[in-house]
Amino acid sequence: VKQAKVAGKPQVYEPKEASAARRRFSIETELRRALDKDQLKLFYQPLIDLQSGEVAGFEALARWHHDDRGEISPSEFIPVAEESGLILTLGRWAMDRAATTLAEWDRKAGETLPVYVGVNLSAIQVARDDIAGIVQSALRTHGLNGDRLTLELTESSIVQDPLRAQRVFEALKALDATVAMDDFGTGYSSLAYLQRLPIDVLKIDRSFVTGMMVDPDSVAIVRAVLSLAEALGMSTTAEGIETVELATTLATLGCASGQGYYFAKPLEPDAALEYWKGRRKA
Ligand code: C2E
Ligand code: MG
Ligand code: MG
Ligand code: MG
Repeated sequence: VKQAKVAGKPQVYEPKEASAARRRFSIETELRRALDKDQLKLFYQPLIDLQSGEVAGFEALARWHHDDRGEISPSEFIPVAEESGLILTLGRWAMDRAATTLAEWDRKAGETLPVYVGVNLSAIQVARDDIAGIVQSALRTHGLNGDRLTLELTESSIVQDPLRAQRVFEALKALDATVAMDDFGTGYSSLAYLQRLPIDVLKIDRSFVTGMMVDPDSVAIVRAVLSLAEALGMSTTAEGIETVELATTLATLGCASGQGYYFAKPLEPDAALEYWKGRRKA
């Protein structure tokens, strides 16, 4: 390690990989502490019914505001949580938070909101935790019906252990929960799984949606996913809708629902409830 003096301060230079490994390690330590101290938050991004314009549901997304480092993105801390096993704690926390918030919305609105919350599940959780048991106890604790929860799973949770994935998906269906395939089209699963597993929703990955504006191939892929979903009796959601043109085009193509900055960014629970009220038709 070389040292140099700049403006009187000793500066330490080290190879890029070493500093990346160091950051990863401190993120792990600090994430463990943040989970202990309950410092993570769940934000809720509206999913809009593209035909009616009403809120169909919300996706729960983890947020971590670090005292010194500021906002740390889930695309940085979720992989660290997965490698370290902390994803099991984080995943249980997220499920309970999401159910708590749903029950709070119902209480504040004085009615059962006709919306669901989508909770992201990591392949590690599917492989190592009792997902259905965790979902069932969250529903029971907060007095919610299973249809209020959507579980967003990725293709990687199928690829690693298809038989286990099938049991987990079926157990979730037995609870009346909804199963969505997240980031559809970006993984390595075979289409045969769509036939075999009880999947209710295909979430079209943001990369294809963004691509639609500039790239005819992306439009072709989105059309193909929409007609595949329709043929198999599944619903569809598009991620990453950033413009009114995308919202209109996807609605015209028959995509059932969508989320994106054009509608709203992920919101704090109270702001999400207000957003739902604001888009309500009757
Ligand atoms: P995801 O599940 O595919 O979630 C959608 C991501 O797209 C979110 O990023 C959301 O903020 C972002 N997004 C939505 N609309 C737009 C848009 O119009 N433009 C752009 N540029 N981005 C948009 P986020 O919140 O940073 O989360 C990234 C990923 O981290 C998620 O991707 C999910 O895989 C993972 N993640 C987040 N929270 C959790 C969690 O509680 N548990 C697990 N296992 N994973 C989580
Ligand atoms: Mg998701
Ligand atoms: Mg996604
Ligand atoms: Mg995505």
